[in-house]
Amino acid sequence: MQQYFTDKKICVGDDLEMNNEDLYHLIKVLRKDDKYTFRICDASHKVFHAHLINNYQCHIDEELNENNELDCDVTCIMSLIKNDKFEMCVQKLVELGVKRIVAYQSVRSVVKVKDEKKLVRINKIIKEAAEQSHRNLIPELYLCTNVKDLSKYMSEKNYICYEAEKNITDIDKSSSISYIIGPEGGFEDNEYKKICELGFESVSLGKRILRAETAALYMSSIIVGKCQ
Ligand code: SAH
Repeated sequence: MQQYFTDKKICVGDDLEMNNEDLYHLIKVLRKDDKYTFRICDASHKVFHAHLINNYQCHIDEELNENNELDCDVTCIMSLIKNDKFEMCVQKLVELGVKRIVAYQSVRSVVKVKDEKKLVRINKIIKEAAEQSHRNLIPELYLCTNVKDLSKYMSEKNYICYEAEKNITDIDKSSSISYIIGPEGGFEDNEYKKICELGFESVSLGKRILRAETAALYMSSIIVGKCQ
C-alpha cells in the first residue's frame, strides 16, 4: 500500500490538503481514485489510513498504531563514494531502518558535494525509500566536511569500521549507535587516528575486504538483528 508523509499533525476525521507532488503521484502515476486507501504518516510519526476526496484533499479514516522504527537510533556516517553507489547505499540504509545519514567528505573521497542539488537528490531518494519501506519518519541527511565535526553525530556507542582491525567486536544493543565507513580507498592513517581519538571504537567486519557500500549495509544489518 502506498504511503506518504505530511509535516502536519493529523487526527482521525480530518480533511487534509495534500501536496502537489503526492497528488500527482497518486492520481497520474498510480492512477488511483477516491476508492483507493493509502497510508499517511504525520509530524508525530503516527500512521493513518486515508482516501482522496475532491481530487486535492484526503480524508483521514483511521489510525493504525503501527511503529516500524528500530529500538535503536542508528546513524550511518558514510564517506562519499561514487554517486550511483552512494545513492543505492542510502536507499538501502533507509530500508534497513537507519535514522540519520551523514555524508562524510573523507580525506580520500574522490567525490565532493559541490552544490545543493546533490543533497536535494539524495533527500528525495531518502523520502521515497521511507515511503516504500513504511517507515514512521523520514531519516535525516547531513553533510560533514571535516573530521572534527564528526563529534556532532556521535551516539551512545560509536564504531569505525576498519579493514585492518583484527577485533570482531560484538555490537551490543544500545539506545543509539553511530558507525563510520571509509571511502573506496579506505581511511587515511592520520584521519583514522583522529576518528579513534574522538571516541569511535575500531571494529572489523571479517577477514575479507568489503566494498564501502557492502560494509555500510552489513554493519546496519548486524545492528538491525540486535535492535529490530
Ligand atoms: N583499504 C582498502 C579498502 C577500503 S574498503 C583499499 O585501500 O582499497 C572501504 C571501507 O569499507 C573501509 O574504509 C571500511 O570502513 C569498510 N570495510 C571494508 N571491509 C571491511 C572489513 N573487513 N572490516 C571493517 N571495515 C571494512
